Amino acid sequence: MNSKEFHTIRNGVIVSVISGIILSSWTPFRDLLVKAALWCWEILTSVWGWFSSTHEIYGWVLVLLVALSFPTLIKLVSLAAKKKELGAEKLYKSDYLFGANWHWYYSNGAIKNLCCLCPSCKNELVYSQTTHYTHGGFGPKTDFLCERCNMRRCSFKGDKRYALGKVEREIRRKIRSNEWQNS
Ligand SMILES: [Zn+2]
Repeated sequence: MNSKEFHTIRNGVIVSVISGIILSSWTPFRDLLVKAALWCWEILTSVWGWFSSTHEIYGWVLVLLVALSFPTLIKLVSLAAKKKELGAEKLYKSDYLFGANWHWYYSNGAIKNLCCLCPSCKNELVYSQTTHYTHGGFGPKTDFLCERCNMRRCSFKGDKRYALGKVEREIRRKIRSNEWQNS
């Protein structure tokens, strides 16, 4: 703002203040101001009076109003819940879990096409199911390997179905606990 603009604004403010003082000392204008303020106050008090007083109302009108408000309330609650779910379905489609980058999509709320990529080279990992010895005896073991890096990226006790189930459970847990938002 240059000094010319500043002077114009300053002069404008001075003129308005002075004319306000002159006008308020002029009785008809002062009366008009007082009347307008009183009129506003009356409106406010009558509105408040209407809200705070009891009204005679037909019972069926009251029942109808309550009945009509229920579906709206239920709809609002379900919308809020759906919005939370939709947020995850729209934004949470990949995550780094158990040593690999997992990708998926949703269909009717279910996790579909779960696949994993190597976190280093983004190559699709291949699974290898072997048997290993645990305390309880021999059991299946599933490894996800990167052929390019020639490395095992993640390993699960159990077969491939169990391994994918474990990843799905972890995804659903993160959605429920809202941890997905930090992923
Ligand atoms: Zn790799």
